Amino acid sequence: MQTRVSNINEEIANFDNSIKDKEAMIIDSKALIKKYEEQLKNIRNNREFDSLNKEIEFQNLEIQLAEKRIKEAKASIVSKSDIISGAKTRLEDRTSDLNTKKSELESIIAETQKDEEKLGKDSARAEKVIDERLLNAYKRLRGNVRNGLAVVPVHRDACGGCFNSVPPQRQMDIAARKKVIVCEHCGRILVDKDIAGVD
Ligand SMILES: [Zn+2]
Repeated sequence: MQTRVSNINEEIANFDNSIKDKEAMIIDSKALIKKYEEQLKNIRNNREFDSLNKEIEFQNLEIQLAEKRIKEAKASIVSKSDIISGAKTRLEDRTSDLNTKKSELESIIAETQKDEEKLGKDSARAEKVIDERLLNAYKRLRGNVRNGLAVVPVHRDACGGCFNSVPPQRQMDIAARKKVIVCEHCGRILVDKDIAGVD
């Protein structure tokens, strides 16, 4: 919207320039007419008389045309200015909406920051008791998978990370909780939904 307003401002500037050009043309034409009128006082024959009158007529037409173009440009400026003032009002509305959303977002971030800090501490505590090889695999997974989740529940017979189906035997192995089972499609660590705390 800001771009649109500045584009329209540019168009208005172009119209202003064209008005100035036409005004300069009118001044030139008037000067020429004055010159021809002076020359008319000293004509020697009919041919010169006709020729000078034709020139004067032509310059008068040029003036009329320039005046018409000036009028059109002024009308365009008025309508463009209307568009701009409408756009400016809308822009102000949007900007105030945007500021409201921004402050909402900031308060959400502030809220989740507390959760994030707590989870970070829990994670650091858990790291100390997890086998290093397993922990490294987990961290690698977190960095590689698209949604950043390395441990996902089995949900409706499917991997909660890639949504490919998990065979019944594998689901039984997961439920037995004897060893770490990974998804054969995405490699994420699968847990049963009771551990994950979801249904
Ligand atoms: Zn998967």
